[in-house]
Amino acid sequence: VDTFAGRTVAVFGLARSGLAAVHALRAGGSEVLAWDDKESLRDAARAAGAKTIPWTEWPWDRLAAVILSPGVPLTHPVPHDVVVRAREWDVEVIGETELFARTITKTPVIAITGTNGKSTTTALIGHILKEAGFDAQVGGNIGQPALALAAPGPQTIYVLEISSYQIDLSPGLEADVSILSNITPDHIDRHGSLENYAAVKMRLLKQTKRAGRNVVGVDDSHCSGIFTRLTSNGGAPCVPVSVGKVLGRGVFVLDGVLYDAQSERSTKVMDLKSAPHLPGAHNWQNAALAYAAVAPFVGNADTIANAIISFPGLAHRIEDVGRIGKVRFVNDSKATNADAAERALVCFDDIWWIAGGRPKAGGIVPLAPYFSRIRKAYLIGEAAEAFAETLQGKAEVVMSGTLEAAVAAAAADAAASDVAEPVVLLSPACASFDQFSDFEKRGDVFRDLVAKLKPETA
Ligand code: ADP
Repeated sequence: VDTFAGRTVAVFGLARSGLAAVHALRAGGSEVLAWDDKESLRDAARAAGAKTIPWTEWPWDRLAAVILSPGVPLTHPVPHDVVVRAREWDVEVIGETELFARTITKTPVIAITGTNGKSTTTALIGHILKEAGFDAQVGGNIGQPALALAAPGPQTIYVLEISSYQIDLSPGLEADVSILSNITPDHIDRHGSLENYAAVKMRLLKQTKRAGRNVVGVDDSHCSGIFTRLTSNGGAPCVPVSVGKVLGRGVFVLDGVLYDAQSERSTKVMDLKSAPHLPGAHNWQNAALAYAAVAPFVGNADTIANAIISFPGLAHRIEDVGRIGKVRFVNDSKATNADAAERALVCFDDIWWIAGGRPKAGGIVPLAPYFSRIRKAYLIGEAAEAFAETLQGKAEVVMSGTLEAAVAAAAADAAASDVAEPVVLLSPACASFDQFSDFEKRGDVFRDLVAKLKPETA
């Protein structure tokens, strides 16, 4: 980043994106001051060439900008003191994605946001573009921070997952394609209200280059409202995407079949049910969004269809982790709430369900319509008692306590059942923090436990 060459820039929050900013700013010839409350992160910043000075001691009169971690509150519930101080001194507060945006000139950027499906859509777009011969550089909220991605070549397209926190900090990110998947009440704590959250999401799409395009899932009321407003405000053209509704103009999915009706005639692109790693209607939305986004780059619909079929899927999201005999094992550790677990429960008929962890408000009450699919539930973690109560009389319950005990029991019970295609599903509907460092670790442990089962059972 040489926008700040020869000037002093401060970085607050030194996790992945903050550290990437330190590296990029140093490489661009800036003096970098950095702070994080965690000492280990300060050490890393120092090793990258930053001077670690508490923010209260920064020379505010000569700071060109503060690079803020998306984890630090900008407005809600109250701005962090460092933000207040920066405003007092009229120092701009931006994010790592904004720095990235200021470095790129001609290379196309596809930006993906929304409440759910961001990572899957982002990864799928990257996969399709790679299959079509592009140098897709995939990052942002998933994988590497934007600034840590490789420098662009002639075939490069940047594919960035953007959280709403990053949108707040990226006023100059003008993508060639912006995607908004859906909006449901989640994370609104940091944005005050659902309306404000929707407004932030819409900002990204308003910033899209006029010669580019927006792609919007129109199946929820917030997004369909945003679609209507975007089409009347003279910005980039907007492609609506629906699962279940026929659209006169747009991209839609009916019974799993993907149709492209962007021009006069609607054409059948493919049957998404033939994509093994995109199960469920929610993934059809992700695939349709990805299709609409890449179509102008790739052109050939068959190339896109083949890439959708060969998409290997993302870890921890209805991830097939193997089969032992007739029993299929599915890792959906990313399902940290009931809403996400529902996405997995709809996919299977006979489920040996591993659930629990640190419960969220409402528990698994909203999942009642799916209890008939559960042959047995193996409950773990802090939520076990409460979940058992909800399931009482609806499904058989085993108080397993640990994931290890749950996997062993579920595998044995599913194998002994008379069901032809039993599925052992880890879809906890809970956060992982009572027993694991994060949902990735929980999913990795599950995968390892299944792998260890194999030799004995096979
Ligand atoms: P994000 O990056 O937005 O968190 P992911 O692609 O990682 O989204 O998917 C996380 C979880 O959200 C999935 O396990 C699934 O339960 C659910 N999900 C994925 N795509 C969608 C979608 N299009 N609509 C609703 N829920 C979805």
